[in-house]
Amino acid sequence: MSKGTPIVERFAPSPTGLLHLGHAYSAITAFQGARGGRFLLRIEDIDFNRSKPAFETQIFDDLHWLGIEWEQPVLRQSDRKPAYEAALKTLWDQNLIYPCECTRRDISIASAPQEGHETLLGPDGVIYPGTCRHKTRPEDYGKSALRLDMHQLNEAEFHFTDLERGQTTFSKQQAIDSIGDVVLARKDIGISYHLAVVLDDAFQGVTHVTRGADLFEATRIHVILQRILGLPTPIYRHHNLIRDDAGKRLAKRDDAKSIKSYREAGYSPSDLRKLMSLGS
Ligand code: GLU
Repeated sequence: MSKGTPIVERFAPSPTGLLHLGHAYSAITAFQGARGGRFLLRIEDIDFNRSKPAFETQIFDDLHWLGIEWEQPVLRQSDRKPAYEAALKTLWDQNLIYPCECTRRDISIASAPQEGHETLLGPDGVIYPGTCRHKTRPEDYGKSALRLDMHQLNEAEFHFTDLERGQTTFSKQQAIDSIGDVVLARKDIGISYHLAVVLDDAFQGVTHVTRGADLFEATRIHVILQRILGLPTPIYRHHNLIRDDAGKRLAKRDDAKSIKSYREAGYSPSDLRKLMSLGS
């Protein structure tokens, strides 16, 4: 990003549950970070099994109530399928992805802890043992899940900047060892969060990504995808997670901490800001 480029921030919730205090924190911080620039809202509804229109309506309502304004029209991932398919085709033509037919059970058996070795977990769950990487490549990938072949990466080193943690550098070998061949297209929905988010941030010209620290490790996957697709890397800010009174991180399942339930209990937007230690 060159000096003087206007800031483009975004908030990208999934309409799979109620927004909670952690989402409010991300949305307000991103909105404030965009002052003088642009603020976008993106609805991440690619997981059609779990996304519900009622949650989307509630997201708009909660954000308005918090005093957040965004540009229209709102981008929905469900409208972006052709762009996702085109990117997968490009990666396939470059030999960077391969079909995978393994079930969760196959993967857990193949990566079961051996004596002296624990099962390795990466930002996307159990690190894939590579079973299908060694199979003969079919003519076409059909409807299988597709995995990124980390061994095929051209670059030896990757970098990104986080406003809270500074510069992070990692090598291709670290990506192979600690991330593994992540799924870029799930069999059920034909795409993954990682690829969609990278394509959408670039498509919308996002310069700054503000989100919870739970996604910090996944950012390494996003940076790899940006390099192989020739896309810019935004500046990231992964903020600390808001925790409940017992110190547990908030999840969508915890309806008790949802913005909706605070509203129903009579809290004002400024009460919520105080609760999150955010200035007005
Ligand atoms: N849609 C994701 C979520 O709701 C956030 C993705 C992101 O900010 O990159 O957890």
